[in-house]
Amino acid sequence: LELVVDPWIDGLWLALKEALLLQKKKEGMSMSNVVDAVSGSLFTAPHVVHELNLSSEVQNLKLEDEGARSSGALSQKLGDINLVAPARDTEPSLVHSVPPVSHSALNIPALPPEYIEVQFQDTHGEDAHLSSLILEGTTFEVPVTKAVQLTREDAIKTALLLELDISDTDFDYQPGDAFCVICPNNASEVEELLQILGLSEKGDDFVCVKVKQGTKKKGASRPQHIPERSTLKFILTWCLEIRAIPKKAFLRALVECTSDAGEKRRLQELCSRQGASDYARFVRDSNVCFLDLLHAFPSCKPSLNLLIEHLPKLQARSYSVSSSNLYQPGKLCFVFNVVELPACPARPVSRKGVCTGWLAELVAPLLHSNKTTLDTKGESSSTEKISIFPRPNNTFHLPADPSVPFMMVGPGTGISPFIGFLQHRQKLREQHTDWEFGEAWLFFGCRHRDRDYLFKQLRCFLENGTLTHLKVCFSRDSSTAEVAPPKYVQDVIRLYAKQVARVLLKERGYFYICGDKKHMADGVSDAVVDILSMEMEADKLEAMKILATLREEKRYLQDVWS
Ligand code: FAD
Repeated sequence: LELVVDPWIDGLWLALKEALLLQKKKEGMSMSNVVDAVSGSLFTAPHVVHELNLSSEVQNLKLEDEGARSSGALSQKLGDINLVAPARDTEPSLVHSVPPVSHSALNIPALPPEYIEVQFQDTHGEDAHLSSLILEGTTFEVPVTKAVQLTREDAIKTALLLELDISDTDFDYQPGDAFCVICPNNASEVEELLQILGLSEKGDDFVCVKVKQGTKKKGASRPQHIPERSTLKFILTWCLEIRAIPKKAFLRALVECTSDAGEKRRLQELCSRQGASDYARFVRDSNVCFLDLLHAFPSCKPSLNLLIEHLPKLQARSYSVSSSNLYQPGKLCFVFNVVELPACPARPVSRKGVCTGWLAELVAPLLHSNKTTLDTKGESSSTEKISIFPRPNNTFHLPADPSVPFMMVGPGTGISPFIGFLQHRQKLREQHTDWEFGEAWLFFGCRHRDRDYLFKQLRCFLENGTLTHLKVCFSRDSSTAEVAPPKYVQDVIRLYAKQVARVLLKERGYFYICGDKKHMADGVSDAVVDILSMEMEADKLEAMKILATLREEKRYLQDVWS
């Protein structure tokens, strides 16, 4: 709602304003009357203190919370506001607002009806199993047999490679597939949550989660991601995304559990239309989570049922396979960046990504033994196991015909599936010396040659002929060359425009992109469109159509994530 509906509604008011202006103009109404009629509190300048004062035309379209209105929440006057805004604070923050928000009457969303009932039961019996979290398919619990840090200590991001032993399972994959890792929430965050909720003593109690009788919520049903019989700790550890960015409906519900008037008002603001940009800035863009809110608003004491109603399912995280089962039978490798969320005013402590932080901690003992050798052959024995399940990709695979040429673009951890492609190809070349193999291009990029060049052994693929062209670029290395070298993969691709056009158009080859969607994949697509347009002497629209056809033919393939 916050991402799609709210901006749409904002656009709606503007569109209505324009439409009404046009209509009234036709009807001969004076311009100033028209603006008055459609502005009200929605279009006033940011520093103007206002009350809800809409013309009947717009008011009819406005969603209001009748319950909140009757309790006076919508008609807070300037007098109440002093509670939240000490005069000396001029900067807004998560907990503090400034005019106009702090002075506005607020349009807050309707209070979502409660629909979950929680009962604590005994502490006896066996807790739920991780397999009960996956409704379809099978999970496999597999040991981590190797962990390698691929980046130097001074790299901006830490990339780790983990090797899993799948030899005792039916888990099967092809290079290019992804799979999912079931991950828990951080144990100390779970403990902290239990403490704040006043439920520390109840962590090992079994919890019965039911739909509240007589709830007003339409279509209310028991959350499927909570197993029938599980302890409170299991639910908070494995089932609920406690790091999720709280939605406005959740903030709205939290208002009702907050006793301090100032905190209550700020929560109202953050879920109100008037506080939309504060919500975007201090909640969404700051990646604030439920725990951060509880710290920031200490008088907020929500009940467990509210958490279950509003926190989404803790999703398993996907990773691209970075190995070939031909090259390393019984093994599955993957590569990931440890996500770092630095401390900020709204988040007093720095955090690591849920899954990548957990994995990094889990394999830390293994990592130390491997640290010095990137290309380790020796295996450390590990008892650590993780639960995984397949997420097959039906299209992101090597061309079925090995004689067809292909180009791979994978900067950073985007290189991961291509290592699997190359290992597979190397084995095929060794096993089938009579086969014809097409060209294989790889475009790789990272920040620094010395710090985060993830697979320096790529050269071996070049030397043994598996890879025919390897093009690398470094975005943060300084250069003394007269002409500065290209920084990003999309820049390098442009240098090989003729070859890209030949492979894609003349030779009906494949083009693969893997990695970051926002910053890289879109830039690469733009470069390809420009290349097609230039090489075919077609206009941009025509080139975009050709790219669309390539996508349809599954010859332009993306495996991207944000
Ligand atoms: P989370 O706890 O989920 O945190 C991620 C959140 O943090 C996001 O909301 C993000 O916006 C935010 N965030 C990230 N960095 C910052 C920052 N610096 N400041 C503020 N906010 C930030 N990842 C890989 O590393 N390797 C792969 O091979 C890979 N393959 C994938 C394949 C597929 C098909 C998909 C869908 C995803 C893939 N991913 C891969 C992404 C992966 O699934 C996870 O999303 C990623 O590892 C982060 O998980 P996490 O639980 O550690 O982070």
